[in-house]
Amino acid sequence: MRIATITNFAYIATVVLTLASGVALFMASGADKAERAAVKQSRDFDAATEQLEKEAFAQTDLARLSVVRKEPENIQAWKSGMAQDRKLERHLATLNDVGASAEELILLHEGLALLKTLEDEQQSAITALEQGRNDEAIQLLFGADYERQLSQVEYRFTHFESLINQRTEATIAEATQTSQRLRTLSEIMVGLTALLFLFVLGFIIKHRILRPVVTLSDVVNRLATQDYAVEAPVYAQVDEIGDMAQAIRIFRENGMVRQRLEQERDADWETRNLLARMTQRLQGCESHRSIIKVVSLFAPKIVPEMGGRLYILDPQNNTMKCMASWLSPSGDSTPFPPECCWALKRGQLHSPSKDNVDMPCEHYPAQVATKAICVPLIAQNKTIGLLTFDNHINQKEPPYVYLELMAETLSLALANQKLRDTLTEKAMYDPLTGLRNRHNLEELLRGLIERAETKKSCVSCLMIDIDYFKKLNDTWGHGAGDKVLRETGRIISERLDEASVAFRYGGEEFLILLPDLDETQAKRIADQILHNVGQHRMVYELHDVGPISVSIGLATWPTHARESNLVRAADLALYLAKERGRNQIVVAKKAS
Ligand code: GH3
Ligand code: MG
Ligand code: MG
Repeated sequence: MRIATITNFAYIATVVLTLASGVALFMASGADKAERAAVKQSRDFDAATEQLEKEAFAQTDLARLSVVRKEPENIQAWKSGMAQDRKLERHLATLNDVGASAEELILLHEGLALLKTLEDEQQSAITALEQGRNDEAIQLLFGADYERQLSQVEYRFTHFESLINQRTEATIAEATQTSQRLRTLSEIMVGLTALLFLFVLGFIIKHRILRPVVTLSDVVNRLATQDYAVEAPVYAQVDEIGDMAQAIRIFRENGMVRQRLEQERDADWETRNLLARMTQRLQGCESHRSIIKVVSLFAPKIVPEMGGRLYILDPQNNTMKCMASWLSPSGDSTPFPPECCWALKRGQLHSPSKDNVDMPCEHYPAQVATKAICVPLIAQNKTIGLLTFDNHINQKEPPYVYLELMAETLSLALANQKLRDTLTEKAMYDPLTGLRNRHNLEELLRGLIERAETKKSCVSCLMIDIDYFKKLNDTWGHGAGDKVLRETGRIISERLDEASVAFRYGGEEFLILLPDLDETQAKRIADQILHNVGQHRMVYELHDVGPISVSIGLATWPTHARESNLVRAADLALYLAKERGRNQIVVAKKAS
């Protein structure tokens, strides 16, 4: 129930109770009046009857004195007393019907009638005296009848007074009781009014003051700890509490705005920090794999609202290949040609949206293409890859700056890696034959021997040298020599499986490492190489440059060499092959 309704009810109840209390008091006052009237009537009756009674006795005395002494003064006094009596009787007669009961009136009338009889007898006695009949007068006034009537009058009036007094007392008692009851009722109503007033006051203090103050205090405390999730109460009342609630609401709203700005600033700072860290980590990457790992780790942190993919251009097939994805992006990671992407075609960020008419990229599913953001990875004006993001941000603009920064730093890292890969390839491979050069040979050999050691296996090594190569150079020129080197390298490579590794060891020397092949298996391969080279027709500029042969030294770890001596053992065997006339295979001596 609303407080206003309660206060209205309380107000009406208070008014009703107050009026009722007033009426009760008024009625109590009426009862008092009745009481006073009863007392007055009783007094009037008492006084009148008492006086009449006295007068009756006084007149009797005067009449008797008159008949005994026969003095005219006494007779005169009796006569004037009689006139007085008449007045009193009339007065009493007027009081007769004022509230007197039937029994009282009978008594009063009987008393008055008897008094009248007495007066008549006194008159008769006085008349008898005046006519000289003294004895008769004395007989009339002093006779037993007169005495009896006199006592009857006294009895009637006394009884009348007694009845009047009884009735008055009863009336007084009833009026007092009524008055008392009404006063008590009035007091109860005044008490109820006071209680109601106190209840309403307490209710209002509790609901309008105490409770809002406690709530507001709680809200203020939580706001003081920057807990802006707390709901500020709305009090529509126009008073200090309403003002306070509104002030707190404004304070909370300001705080929320400030907090949001701080959060945005912090998020901004955090994003920049992440970007800086990603850039640093990318600089430390030494392979494509580690670059992809870094992107996969940082991209979902930098733009946590967007799932995305990293594509790298495969120049051989001219397709964009998905290398990484994060936060479950829409669509699949099927490769696609660069022409399917507007960002790659235009060489800049492409972000079609629902609101603006724009071309959606074909590599995205049609239903989400308007929510895609594509950022090309470009280095030295060449496309090297692509970043795609699902744009799920509806409220604010996507962080294009960060996406472009990410793409930029990633492009640089990929370009650097490509450069490094090229340089490494150049440093590791012989450009003439396409075989590995001696770079990393020792490291690779150590790895193979360690693996063989663990597996209780073996590693064989062939050292191959073209016979009389200087002479060929001298005869046909270095161009012919180079071609012979290329062809020999190809013949060697053709014979090897994936596990074997061939090197151009020096000028016209080749080295082959054969993991898990023992002496016999290695010898079989060496025989085939010797045969294939010998059978191959070397033609340079339409000239047959003559038959070519190679000498091969064979050594197997652990049969012929200990640990890193394998190459040396094979080289010694080659030396023996040369010594023994070339175009042959010599197996190294068994290790002692
Ligand atoms: P042997 O049978 O004892 O091996 O005699 P050889 O003439 O093959 O050996 P030698 O060490 O005397 O000569 C090697 C020659 O290989 C010398 C050098 O000019 C030539 N040579 C080294 N590297 C290249 C190269 O890259 N291209 C060409 N065309 N010739 C090279
Ligand atoms: Mg040679
Ligand atoms: Mg040589």
